[in-house]
Amino acid sequence: MRVLRSKIVSLLAILLFAGYYAGSTLFPHAHIYGGIKIIHSHPYSGNSSTPGHSHSSAEFQLIKIFNSLVLATFLSIALERIYRSIVTPVTSRIVTKINNYHNNCLSLRAPPIVF
Ligand SMILES: [Zn+2]
Repeated sequence: MRVLRSKIVSLLAILLFAGYYAGSTLFPHAHIYGGIKIIHSHPYSGNSSTPGHSHSSAEFQLIKIFNSLVLATFLSIALERIYRSIVTPVTSRIVTKINNYHNNCLSLRAPPIVF
C-alpha cells in the first residue's frame, strides 16, 4: 500500500512538473504593467504581442514568487548533486587517511594506574 501510494505521488509530481514546464516554455508573451514590460508564459488565447488577457498586480507577484520558488528548488538540487559528486569523494578520502593514520599509530597514552 505504501509503495503504491509513493508511486502515485511520484507520478502526480512528474505530471505537475511536466505541466508547469510546458506552460512556462510553450506560451511566452508580454504584458505592459505600470510602464514595465513583463514577459512570462502560461497557456492563453491570442498572439504573443496582444495576448488578449491581463493580470492584476497580485497575479504578477504570485507568478514572480512561484518562479523564484522553482528556481531556488532547482538550484538547491543542482548544488546538492555537485556537492555529492565533487566534495564528498575528496572529504571521504581525507577521512579515510585520518582513520588509517590513527589506527596504525601507537598510542602515547600511559596505562591506567591500579592501586
Ligand atoms: Zn499573461
